[in-house]
Amino acid sequence: MKTLPDKLTDLKGVGPALAGKLNRLGIGSPEDLLFHLPMRYEDRTHITAIGSCRIGDTVLVEGVLDACDVAYGRRRSLLAYVSDGTGRVGLRFYYFSGTQQKNLKRARRVRAFGEIRRGASGPEIYHPEYQVNPAAGVEETLTPVYPATEGVTQARLRSLITPLLTTIDEPSVIQEITQLPGATLAEALRIVHKPQPNDDIASLLQGTHPAQKRLAFEELLAHQASMRLLRRHIGSEGAPVMKGMGSELATRFDRNMDFTLTTAQDRVLKEIAADMVQPLPMFRLLQGDVGSGKTIVAARTAVDVIESGYQVAIMAPTEILAEQHLLSFSEWLLPLGIEIAWLTGKVSGRARAQTLSRIASGDAPVIIGTHALFADDVMFHQLGLIVVDEQHRFGVQQRLSLREKGRSRAGMPHQLIMTATPIPRTLTMTLYSDMDVSIIEELPPGRIPVSTSVIPDKRRGDIVARVNQACAEGQQVYWVCTLIEDSDDAELQAAEETARMLTEALPDHRVALVHGRLKAQEKSDIMQRFREHSFDVLVATTVIEVGVNVPNANLMIIDNAERLGLAQLHQLRGRVGRGHDAGFCVLLYQPPLGPTAKARLDVMRRSTDGFLIAEQDLLIRGPGDILGERQSGDVQFRVADLIRDQDLLTEIRNRAATLTDSECLILMARWMRDPENLAQV
Ligand code: ADP
Ligand code: MG
Repeated sequence: MKTLPDKLTDLKGVGPALAGKLNRLGIGSPEDLLFHLPMRYEDRTHITAIGSCRIGDTVLVEGVLDACDVAYGRRRSLLAYVSDGTGRVGLRFYYFSGTQQKNLKRARRVRAFGEIRRGASGPEIYHPEYQVNPAAGVEETLTPVYPATEGVTQARLRSLITPLLTTIDEPSVIQEITQLPGATLAEALRIVHKPQPNDDIASLLQGTHPAQKRLAFEELLAHQASMRLLRRHIGSEGAPVMKGMGSELATRFDRNMDFTLTTAQDRVLKEIAADMVQPLPMFRLLQGDVGSGKTIVAARTAVDVIESGYQVAIMAPTEILAEQHLLSFSEWLLPLGIEIAWLTGKVSGRARAQTLSRIASGDAPVIIGTHALFADDVMFHQLGLIVVDEQHRFGVQQRLSLREKGRSRAGMPHQLIMTATPIPRTLTMTLYSDMDVSIIEELPPGRIPVSTSVIPDKRRGDIVARVNQACAEGQQVYWVCTLIEDSDDAELQAAEETARMLTEALPDHRVALVHGRLKAQEKSDIMQRFREHSFDVLVATTVIEVGVNVPNANLMIIDNAERLGLAQLHQLRGRVGRGHDAGFCVLLYQPPLGPTAKARLDVMRRSTDGFLIAEQDLLIRGPGDILGERQSGDVQFRVADLIRDQDLLTEIRNRAATLTDSECLILMARWMRDPENLAQV
């Protein structure tokens, strides 16, 4: 009888070093390798005529080498031209070795694979994979692309996974969960890892192949199973009991506030307070559109907890967001004599030691920071409440670990998770079935909805004039260059170019650039200076943090807006119109627009309601929409896609109800092993 080996090091060619690297990918055993699934496929089954390639296509092309020279532009690059009689494409390398250059120069024919972009010389592929003087014949089937890491290449992953696939043909090798629709698990794994030429390539590329559906079903079921166990786990724990609202501190807090809470904020506060007077840990998701005022709800809740004698930890996913909270909380809590401790990865040495001791002694009633709050040496005195902001970036594992950390004699701390990602109800039930949900469905009064215009790229000149005008009036402007997946280079190039163009066009105003390649500290400094109005225009890749508050920035330009999903557009747009002035958003696009992109931009122009936008998103992104790229803020699964696989949700909930405990454990071991990297929940 065949079985899977127990340990990674039992596999041929795997020593402790490689096993360690595999661990970093969340792979701890041979079985884990089987569930390390391709995130996408590359189609190298046919050569495309260069003349028929469109910008954005990922293609295999082949032709004769026309020229190969070093190009000296703003950045030195190696540029080779290949033509096949129908057209010519440039292959551009920003990083190249002398050997590579010599090798390429000598080639007669070149075969290259990559995405066609609009380059300086016409259509170009940046950093293509290529072969010189290739042998005849192309690959017969799709090439899987796995999540990989340094020292673990695609080829290595393939060579490790392939032999395992023959082992699992026998039913006993891998445990099947019964009553799941479609093919067996073994068959589904075989197809996704090693599609055969006769498998349905089109549906595999779209992620709708029955084998992918079968795995998605199981992955979502695993998610439900974990939610159920979490829920039960929480139910069995005690929690500190709060005194409830209306304390002395709270009265002073309310008096100091320079606005009145909205009805929705009021209601949500009561929902939270009602939870925390119970001896059971609260686990509540607070949903509210950008600008709906979640922060003050958290601060007001914190006051009740402090009054009851417990500590509050507030955690944000990035330093910038944590700083934003520090500012807001300081404004509201310092006048009440409540001190705030600050803890991020950057706090070190003596300052860190002092902060840790204040946290451990309970002298620090409020602690604000990043995931540094999880560090092993952080000990809380009596943690009563954990507030997690912009929750989608934290994994289940982190969610659990912070809660574990906070456990004290009084029990588990209460937990409030705040998210600005509008999630339609059907999805909430699937994703957050372990939580109670509160929704702030109205914005504070007096907010003027951001007005949005959709404008073709050729009117860029008009937009620059408008930016000039806004700056002249003392306003600040965001100019966002959108992220093109897998191509940070092109992205950064576009942003640099835009920054240069604006610097030239706006000699009277100060233009800054922020992008993903900068260190966290540098990013944070630039954002901080923008907040202080040291710059008028901030050119940014999509790194601008959700949740950053610059009330004086009221105009946002989004370049190539057609490339972004609705959720992301909505989040970005939420950066403007946060003060008393009206906000404006200009969505620049490259014509011609496809029907999906057109529908999306139309929704953005018509609506500023996050929930409505989320629902439209579901409608527009029907199954089979290949453009439905993963949106930032979406939960990341390995195969499942909540939009694409929504047809499965009802059946999944039904099956989840009948799962046995041992089935739950099997599913979770398989699918939830590294939530941080793979399945952010
Ligand atoms: P988000 O929900 O996106 O985190 P914030 O909490 O940052 O929103 O609130 C956005 C802005 O609205 C802040 O400047 C905040 O002080 C202000 N705000 C919050 N609640 C109200 C209210 N009820 N009336 C007026 N302004 C409010
Ligand atoms: Mg916020």
